[in-house]
Amino acid sequence: MSSTEQASVAVIGMGTVGAMAAWQLSKLVPGRIIGIEQYGVAHAYGAYAGESRLFRTAAYEGEHYTPLLVRAQQLWRELERESGQSIYLQVGALTIAPGASPKIAGTLEAAERFVLPHEHLVGRELRRRFPQHDFDDGDEAILDLGGGGLRPERAILTAASLAERGGAEIWDDTRVLGIDEQHGRHLVSTTRGDILAEKVVIAAGPWSQQILPELKTFTKVKSVPLTWFMPKRVDQFLPERFPVFVRDRGTTHLFGAPSLEGYAVPRSRTGRSSTTSRSCSVSTPGLSSRRPPSWRPGTFRACTRSRCATASTRTATRPISPRLSTPRPTAAASSCPGCRDGASSSRPPSAVSPLT
Ligand SMILES: Cc1cc2nc3c(=O)[nH]c(=O)nc-3n(C[C@H](O)[C@H](O)[C@H](O)COP(=O)(O)OP(=O)(O)OC[C@H]3O[C@@H](n4cnc5c(N)ncnc54)[C@H](O)[C@@H]3O)c2cc1C
Repeated sequence: MSSTEQASVAVIGMGTVGAMAAWQLSKLVPGRIIGIEQYGVAHAYGAYAGESRLFRTAAYEGEHYTPLLVRAQQLWRELERESGQSIYLQVGALTIAPGASPKIAGTLEAAERFVLPHEHLVGRELRRRFPQHDFDDGDEAILDLGGGGLRPERAILTAASLAERGGAEIWDDTRVLGIDEQHGRHLVSTTRGDILAEKVVIAAGPWSQQILPELKTFTKVKSVPLTWFMPKRVDQFLPERFPVFVRDRGTTHLFGAPSLEGYAVPRSRTGRSSTTSRSCSVSTPGLSSRRPPSWRPGTFRACTRSRCATASTRTATRPISPRLSTPRPTAAASSCPGCRDGASSSRPPSAVSPLT
């Protein structure tokens, strides 16, 4: 292709934000919509990769988030209705923290202010309802009944295909090289040719700094490792019994989801402490004192490594994950036949949103 293509909107990146934007734009904007993705749609490098994501409606992060989340909940349902796919599992979301934590107060405040269905659980009742968690004395939890888990890869594939069904074009395996202003329009240069667009949506996620270098001054890209644990009793961790959770323990922030496929439980953590999780003494150094490796969460299952004896939950035991504490853990991934192109220092990193 040599001539410049014309479009109403060019959407850069067909990840979480871009695929959803292209889907909505295909319904709302009459002109030509082009979505551009450097890899295939729903690849293993995106910030969305890794089977499940948590969704909360009552946000402790700030009052402006909750209305957005309530709207997002409607849109997840809309995506399911239009596609017939199961994407959003409304299994509830537990926010667990010491009773005095602002996260408990903030979640409660958001739930009450926006009249969201919720339960405030403490003491014996909390332990009785959720025996999978090893609570500390003084822990409390807010169960956000409108929250739950999302299937991110399926969501992206679904949104992209609905966008196409609505008339949008998706240029996959096409990389955006730069954007220039041209008489009030935007010339988007790609590896497949140029697009002159009225509007541009930049949804490049962790790669955004490459397109907008000015972001470097106030954003930082970091990877968030996920680990899959094999529970002794997976029935305790199925969606009907085990809501998604976010948890503060000391300075560690943990989050996890139920086992969607009835086999292993995904969990992740951020923070500095090496003492707050009873699991993974092996994984702790990799997560706390070293820069986490860049990897693709979606490929972990093929790279099974059983290194820890216990998990932070009572009945979960064997983690399935790469060796997090080894200096070059991606080497484990590179030897895995399931990893498409192995370990590489140029592997794109993942990012985390304020919602986790
Ligand atoms: C391990 C982990 C756990 C998380 N857990 C949660 C959670 O539980 N709940 C929650 O709400 N959030 C969670 N997040 C955050 C959430 O997944 C991200 O905020 C979200 O996926 C970001 O979406 P995005 O569209 O900005 O980026 P992405 O989904 O990564 O999409 C960016 C896309 O742009 C493409 N792209 C980039 N540059 C170019 C270019 N030059 N040309 C063409 N295409 C390009 C990329 O290939 C990619 O497909 C988590 C993130 C991680 C990493």
